[in-house]
Amino acid sequence: MSFDIARVRADFPILSREVNGHPLTYLDNGASAQKPRVVIDAMTRLYEQDYSNVHRGLHTLSNISTEKYEGTRGIIARFLGAPDEDEIVFTTGTTHGINMVASSWAAPRLEAGDEIVLSIMEHHANIVPWHFLRERQGVVLKWVETDATGALDPEAVLAACGPRTKLIAVTHLSNVTGTVVDVAAISAGAREKGIPVLVDGSQSAVHMPVNVAEIGCDFYAMTGHKTYGPSGSGAIWIRRDRMDEMCPYMGGGDMIREVSRDAVSYNDPPMKFEAGTPGIAATIGLGVALEYIMGLGMENIAAHERRLRDYAQERLAGLNWLQVQGQTPGKAAIFSFTMEGAHAHDLSTVLDKRGIAVRAGTHCAMPFLDHLGVSATARASFAMYNTEEEVDRLISALELCHDLFA
Ligand code: PLP
Repeated sequence: MSFDIARVRADFPILSREVNGHPLTYLDNGASAQKPRVVIDAMTRLYEQDYSNVHRGLHTLSNISTEKYEGTRGIIARFLGAPDEDEIVFTTGTTHGINMVASSWAAPRLEAGDEIVLSIMEHHANIVPWHFLRERQGVVLKWVETDATGALDPEAVLAACGPRTKLIAVTHLSNVTGTVVDVAAISAGAREKGIPVLVDGSQSAVHMPVNVAEIGCDFYAMTGHKTYGPSGSGAIWIRRDRMDEMCPYMGGGDMIREVSRDAVSYNDPPMKFEAGTPGIAATIGLGVALEYIMGLGMENIAAHERRLRDYAQERLAGLNWLQVQGQTPGKAAIFSFTMEGAHAHDLSTVLDKRGIAVRAGTHCAMPFLDHLGVSATARASFAMYNTEEEVDRLISALELCHDLFA
């Protein structure tokens, strides 16, 4: 199937609006992506016609809502190549999923002096939960830096693992530079050493086909709102044997089998990790979003984004006064840049005047920015609905910035 960019854009109502008198050029997809009409309609339909709480009711609306909600588990399993839909735990996003692993898998089994190996590229969501373990129980964080080309060498990650290493937690795709990490190579090496691997798939799941069985990791966390789904949706895939090693995360309704005055027993996974009333509409919307992108074909989406990346790379290279961070081969269409004489916030403000949305700041990756030797960058992150014409708009707005600040 060919990728019809005009049709894809027409599916996203927000893309036809103007911002500050200019057509919206939305290049902040790394933070959150826009939603197609099918997702918006599915959520509206749910609230207008079918909404009720899930799992508990015996009435018609509860059954319809439960069926739609639970149906999403299978969709996510298909999207991630998970062998069993019961290995999918619904979350509010990647942050939730990683915190779950930190609290329910790592905290009970790691002792003072045990190590967690992280890359320097990690988002705070894949750093701070491990800092909790460092602060609370003396776990040691070991950092692996990117090499001279800006890439993360799987061999360097494996070489950092010693006899006390209990987990490798690594991003699949950097939200700062778009660098793609060979998580399959890391997982294969880690398996030989008996070390579990957690992959932060928050950025990768939307840009490339993902198959957790082929990657061979133990945990894979994804974010719904970056994959064209609603905010507050997401999932973590946890290999069955790891699920069995985990204690419950939050306590409350749905995650129990029986509760008495003196005792409690827990539901089977994945419900064991899903306490309380969940984000029903958000999760259902995520299922619709994933069906939508699977319908377009992840390979087609990836091919379109590669073309965009190549074009953007070529045009940005022409701006010799712009410093673009981390131009690694095979990277995603995410570009972080700085300009001498202008703060990243200034760049973002000027671009916004032209209707161009980019992010500016530390991108929740302070150790990585420190490693790169910059205090802040502006970041243009592309999605499947972006076009070469939008790259041109970005370039001409950056030229304006150069005129203003240089
Ligand atoms: N990991 C990476 C690489 C990210 O880019 C993000 C979000 O920007 C997260 C984790 C956190 O995702 P969420 O805010 O959806 O929990």
